Amino acid sequence: MSRAGERRDSKTCLACGRQIEWRKKWERSWNEVRYCGQACRRRGIRPEDELLEAAILEHLAGPQGRRGIDPEVVGAAMAEAAGEDVAQWRERSRSAARRLVAKGMATIQQGGREVDPSVARGPMVVRRP
Ligand SMILES: [Zn+2]
Repeated sequence: MSRAGERRDSKTCLACGRQIEWRKKWERSWNEVRYCGQACRRRGIRPEDELLEAAILEHLAGPQGRRGIDPEVVGAAMAEAAGEDVAQWRERSRSAARRLVAKGMATIQQGGREVDPSVARGPMVVRRP
């Protein structure tokens, strides 16, 4: 796992926004790989996932954007508005934040430092890039 190879041999999962590392089994199909695994492929991207991204961007553009926002708070508000279980929106919110990082529209910080969204655990702060 060399640094030089990292950029060439990885891409971002369309669903969860985590890095997909190149694997031998994808030798011939790497160009078609879109998702990191079964669960993400099955889930894909739903309309509410895109709404979540838009909502996070909206918050980032507002006064809170400078300090950074918790994507789970944005997701919780949307879950409540939709009358759905907040807990189920938690990972969905984090995925939306990771996808925004992959698009260069946000960064994720923990403890005041930018972190790799693929491996970040625990509460995250999303900020403008
Ligand atoms: Zn994934």
